[in-house]
Amino acid sequence: MNISLKNPAEVEIIRQACRIQSEILNEVCAAVAIGISTSELDELAEKLCREKNVKPGFKNYHGFPASICASVNDEVVHGIPSKNKILENGDIIAIDFGVVLDGWNADACRTVAVGKISEEAKKLMERTKESLYRGIEKAVAGNSTGDIGHAIESFVKQFSYSPVRETVGHGIGRKLHEDPEVPNWGKVGSGAKLKKGMVICIEPIINAGSAKILTEKDGWTTRTRDGKLSAHFEHQILIREGEAEILTPWDEPVGNL
Ligand code: MG
Repeated sequence: MNISLKNPAEVEIIRQACRIQSEILNEVCAAVAIGISTSELDELAEKLCREKNVKPGFKNYHGFPASICASVNDEVVHGIPSKNKILENGDIIAIDFGVVLDGWNADACRTVAVGKISEEAKKLMERTKESLYRGIEKAVAGNSTGDIGHAIESFVKQFSYSPVRETVGHGIGRKLHEDPEVPNWGKVGSGAKLKKGMVICIEPIINAGSAKILTEKDGWTTRTRDGKLSAHFEHQILIREGEAEILTPWDEPVGNL
C-alpha cells in the first residue's frame, strides 16, 4: 500500500478543488427536475467546469464517456448519462462527479429526489446519507478504515439494507483513486490506519435489498439484481487529530432521521 500524506500547501489546493466541485455539484443537483435528461445534467456539469477552469475528473477515466455518473433508481453506480434517459416523478438519481484543479482531484456524490418520491425511497436516501456521516465520525487519526466501514455497515444493516461490495471509498489526490481502500463494511480496528494529512473519500453505496449487482451491456452501468433501489452519498474529507474536515460541503442541512 502506498498511502500519501498531503502537506498543508497541497491540502489548500485540494480544498479549492473540492470547493469548486461542490459548487458545481450543488448546481447540477438543483437542476434535477421531472422531464430533464441525464445528458442535460452532464452538459451542465461540463459547462460549469469550463466556466470555473477545472477539468471534469471522470471523463475518459478508464474510458468513461461523460463528466457525471448518473445512476437512477435501481442503477447502483457508473450510470452513463443519456439523452434518452428522462427523469420521471418519483425517481431518485445519484450524481457522482469529480473535478481536477492543477492536477488535484475532488470527488463527491449525492442522491437526490425527482418530484415526489416514495416513503421507501426517502428512507433509503436519508439512511444512506446518515451512514456516511456515521462513517465520517470515525474518520479520525489513530482509527482505521475498518472503523469507518463498521460504522456504515452496522447502521444500515438494522434496516436490512446492504452495502455494495464491488465499489468502495478510496484515498484521493493526484490520482482519483489512491490507497487506501475504504470499504463500506468491516471490523473495528481492521484495515489501514488513518493518519493526519490523509485525504480520503467515504462513499456508502447502499442497496435497499440484496448486495448483488449486475453490469449492463454498456460495460459501466451497474444495477441491483433484485430490482430494488440503491442510493449513494460521498464526501471527500481530510483526516485530522480530531473531527475530520469535510472538504465537499453541500448546501443543504443534514437530515435527521
Ligand atoms: Mg469516489
